[in-house]
Amino acid sequence: MKTLDIDKLIRSNISRLKPYSSARSEFTGEGAVFLDANENPNNTLYNRYPDPLQWNLKRKIAKMKGVEPGMIFLGNGSDEAIDLLIRAFCQPGKDKILSVDPTYGMYKVCADINEVEYNEVLLTNDFQPDIEQLMQEADSNTKLLFLCSPNNPTANDFSEEAIVEILNRFKNLVVLDEAYIDFSNRESFLTKLAEYQNLVILQTFSKAWGLAGIRLGMCFADKRVISVMNKIKYPYNVNSTTLRIAAEALENKNTHNGWVEEIIKERKRLVTALPEYSQIINVYPSDANFILVKVKSPELLYKHLVGEGIIVRDRSKVSLCDGCLRITVGRPEENDKLLKALAEFEKTL
Ligand SMILES: *Cc1c(COP(=O)(O)O)cnc(C)c1O
Repeated sequence: MKTLDIDKLIRSNISRLKPYSSARSEFTGEGAVFLDANENPNNTLYNRYPDPLQWNLKRKIAKMKGVEPGMIFLGNGSDEAIDLLIRAFCQPGKDKILSVDPTYGMYKVCADINEVEYNEVLLTNDFQPDIEQLMQEADSNTKLLFLCSPNNPTANDFSEEAIVEILNRFKNLVVLDEAYIDFSNRESFLTKLAEYQNLVILQTFSKAWGLAGIRLGMCFADKRVISVMNKIKYPYNVNSTTLRIAAEALENKNTHNGWVEEIIKERKRLVTALPEYSQIINVYPSDANFILVKVKSPELLYKHLVGEGIIVRDRSKVSLCDGCLRITVGRPEENDKLLKALAEFEKTL
């Protein structure tokens, strides 16, 4: 059991803040005539403001994930949750953020925008967090430690033991970004929220759910952490269309499961097929819906693929990813095109 002193964590101005109170958040009970929010009374399907705390959708998510609705924050993508966590807990010029390198770029960008010091510790050669270095780097002003597992761009899961050890040893909040958890064999850490009050989990509708366009991110944490995020978010941060589409998706969980199954199957096919090409030096193990590959001529291959209309991500300048491309697993016929283009590229050399 790891308890959390939330008052020590929150930025003092946020503790003192009197939040904006929206019309829809001041009323409870059953209304039939809404004359409180200066809306247009004519039904366009969208003339009403959405529920500021999205309780209807949160109850559905809570049921599926086995957590309480009050432990969920919903935002405009995971990116909103990342930004709000920094704004809620990190005082610019004083507090700090710690993460690993390489990892998802938004943690550093959000830290930089908020003028919060960002430190990173290189992953080990097998892409695992270097726990001793992380602990050495952390001090009492290090409010947030971001871990992304499966990690972007390395595609691998961090070992469960490593994540647990960091949760035990790091004093403040550990933000575990599980954007790709559906593609992994690892169990989500959602079941550990009760045990570790300092655990914050990010998940998203953008990857496995196939809904990157609706911008909906989920954050799961201790209710006190969620309350602070709700206190400082835009009042109506998730729009009605997004809420409706997400609720529909949850009703079609079989479609989602089918996609995940197919993507994992295609990932296996690519992981087997890619090493056959002389251009490929290494295919790193993947627990995600993308594959990191080290190639002989990253720039030339990247350009060749673009010429074929195939866009991958050049990660060759990223730490530990020298010569690497990051390839998202596509539809079976798209993956065929990728392999075909790779074969053609080798003929041109
Ligand atoms: C894609 C991705 C997300 C998703 O971000 P959204 O804002 O929810 O679309 C979050 N974290 C990582 C590491 C990602 O790669």
